[in-house]
Amino acid sequence: MFSNTEEFKEAFLKKLEMTCGKSFADSTEKDHYYTLGLLIREYVSTEWINTNERYRIDQVKQVYYLSIEFLLGRLLRNNLLNLGIEQVVSAGLQDLGIELSSLEEVESDAGLGNGGLGRLAACFLDSLASLNLPGHGCGIRYKHGLFEQKVVDGYQVELPDQWLRNGHVWEVRKADLSVEIPFWGEVDIREENGRQVFQHIHAERVTAVPYDMPVVGYHTETINTLRLWSAEPVRYPTNQDVLKYKKETEAISEFLYPDDTQDEGKILRLKQQYFLVRASLQSIIRSFKRQHKDMKEFHQYISIHINDTHPVLAIPELMRILIDEEKLGWDDAWEVTTQTISYTNHTTLSEALEKWPVRIFQPLLPRMYMIVNEINERFCAKLWEKYPGKWQYIENMAIIAHDQVKMAHLAIVGSHSVNGVAALHTEILKYREMHSFYQFFPKKFNNKTNGITHRSWLLKSNQSLADLITEKLGAEWIRDPEQMALLLKYENDTDLLTRLADIKHANKENLAHRIFTQTGIKIDTHSIFDIQVKRLHAYKRQLLNIFHVMYLYNRIKEDESFKMHPRTFIFGAKASPGYYFAKKVIKLINTVAKKVNHDPKTNEYLKVIFLENYRVSLAEDVFPAADISEQISTASKEASGTGNMKFMMNGAITVGTMDGANVEIHERVGDENIFIFGLRSDEVNHYYAHGGYQATEYYHHDHRIRQVMDQLRNGFFPDVFDEFEPIYDSLIMENDQYFVLRDFSSYVHIQEKAGYAYEKQEKWRKMSLNNIAKSGFFSSDRTINEYAQGIWGIK
Ligand SMILES: *Cc1c(COP(=O)(O)O)cnc(C)c1O
Repeated sequence: MFSNTEEFKEAFLKKLEMTCGKSFADSTEKDHYYTLGLLIREYVSTEWINTNERYRIDQVKQVYYLSIEFLLGRLLRNNLLNLGIEQVVSAGLQDLGIELSSLEEVESDAGLGNGGLGRLAACFLDSLASLNLPGHGCGIRYKHGLFEQKVVDGYQVELPDQWLRNGHVWEVRKADLSVEIPFWGEVDIREENGRQVFQHIHAERVTAVPYDMPVVGYHTETINTLRLWSAEPVRYPTNQDVLKYKKETEAISEFLYPDDTQDEGKILRLKQQYFLVRASLQSIIRSFKRQHKDMKEFHQYISIHINDTHPVLAIPELMRILIDEEKLGWDDAWEVTTQTISYTNHTTLSEALEKWPVRIFQPLLPRMYMIVNEINERFCAKLWEKYPGKWQYIENMAIIAHDQVKMAHLAIVGSHSVNGVAALHTEILKYREMHSFYQFFPKKFNNKTNGITHRSWLLKSNQSLADLITEKLGAEWIRDPEQMALLLKYENDTDLLTRLADIKHANKENLAHRIFTQTGIKIDTHSIFDIQVKRLHAYKRQLLNIFHVMYLYNRIKEDESFKMHPRTFIFGAKASPGYYFAKKVIKLINTVAKKVNHDPKTNEYLKVIFLENYRVSLAEDVFPAADISEQISTASKEASGTGNMKFMMNGAITVGTMDGANVEIHERVGDENIFIFGLRSDEVNHYYAHGGYQATEYYHHDHRIRQVMDQLRNGFFPDVFDEFEPIYDSLIMENDQYFVLRDFSSYVHIQEKAGYAYEKQEKWRKMSLNNIAKSGFFSSDRTINEYAQGIWGIK
């Protein structure tokens, strides 16, 4: 469309007048952003239609990725980059006196996710389209995504996210493709021609309206679709109280649940799940039926993936459609369903495994409940054949037991593939958490180590590093990121290592500038940037990190001879609004920051920064600027992590435990290019199984720990009295469930080692190069190719 800047400018100005109804002279930055967005969307619309036509005509198998979260961030520059028109557009805008980078700032993050799980879904969409694979996303169009975080007096304050305030230029509302979703009511059962017929009657109905977004592949013609559903009232509400009905209906897609680890037990959450599943399946089947007649062949053309258990109702819902609407028998329906559905497990934290009380599930979703019940009975009968008389064993594996529906059990039984997200995590599933299921269905279990799109997290966010790689290797690595390994031949090339360091320094300057603008704090860009950014959770152990900072502070104050390379500790984390402990840790980090940053004796060596409102667009400035990547979860608790991969790809060195994908990072870079510390997963497990850990012993016997812990409550922090009692209690009274004190000494030791290593700059730069070079494996292109071949069977 626009092959040169002149063409672009002409199109842009014409579009601006048409859509904003203003002359260029009167137009604002918002107008420019909106105009550019529309222009791009139009630019892709032909290819978008063509892609769908092509899929239809070629009758290719397609995958639908169902996820309750998609953490997309901003799309403008992603789309420009993938379309390969960034240069033309940027130059054309410049001619008009407009900076592309300022327009980018106009766009709100699409923050329809909490953290890793939602970001993974976004990276997967990018990889699917970039690999020319027929795969689409299905999710919910929350009116308010994850809350905006402010820090006031050291405390987290939550404001509702308003990402739709100025409209969302990338979406297309398709009201004509709306579907209806029933809740509550009863199931009427009748006999018709010797067959039982089930009808859901007296239901409350809600309209699901799809909003489609184009997913643009990198330099490909493929444009896939992300379909997000919005809840609206049905056209003629039959209810008496129309306003109440409207409010209740719209509530379904009003808010993203701001918690990724706990099942709130809220009816609304279950409503969201069924809303997503029922709407998505209806549209998938409609599209299938335009080409095919025989529902028994459904799984040959369609694959449905459920991202964690939130969309697991896809299993009973597909059964319902096949039995009630398509008139298949149970066994045929079951074969089609299990062959269609595949499931990813994201956590073994027991508090995060979804369970729904029957007393909520059954009345809200009466037909779903009947089907889940039938699935359970048939499954238990099979178990009985294999394990006759073993009541307890069978009960533990049942889908419904003790008035609870266990969503993970349903997901395993009703799918053909169950995957973990890193090698260690999958082993833990197979041999510990889901061991009995693994024994019963050994072939279903497999591993797919997570990945990140190197296009967003390197090409887009760290352009100078990407350019340097291309200069050395040619552009082929962009298609095939594992070719980054060829960088290793420059390991002893001082010129390259210096340029690498210069790029890192420029990125640090950039982040420092951003921090200065926002907080007024000046940081030393020659200090080590030691960064932990991720959701705040006890198992991720931000507490261990801040304890280490407190220890360093004490050490500098007390020991004149103590020397360390200056460090800037940077934190970014949102705490779930109801997560009391997590919020106390945020307050502690900010309290330490205040003390440390204002102490003239230490502040040359130590700075602590808490970045407000950690989100994708901020993350893009953070990863490129890191020297040290903090990945310090209690071993066995972090299923994979993906932040660890983003840091690695940008040349940071990991300080981490042998947890999640850290294990695979270690495997690739070797002992000499990573700092591993702490308990191993089997040791943690041993403590859980057999006891033997006494946190108080570490308190009493390690004076560094005692000093730090005492400072939580002895007036060390001015104006703080019992603020940090809950933290103290979690370690002493609750015996430190996440082994913060147990790993403290090992952590201090490895951090010291990392500090010394940094001072040997030549060596450090080599380490950094090694990390970048070996990061290609963690591209989500590799992950998606594995899913495509091993699970979905798409080409
Ligand atoms: C990558 C990412 C995450 C996941 O980080 P982990 O360290 O793997 O927990 C969370 N939030 C955002 C904004 C991200 O970009």
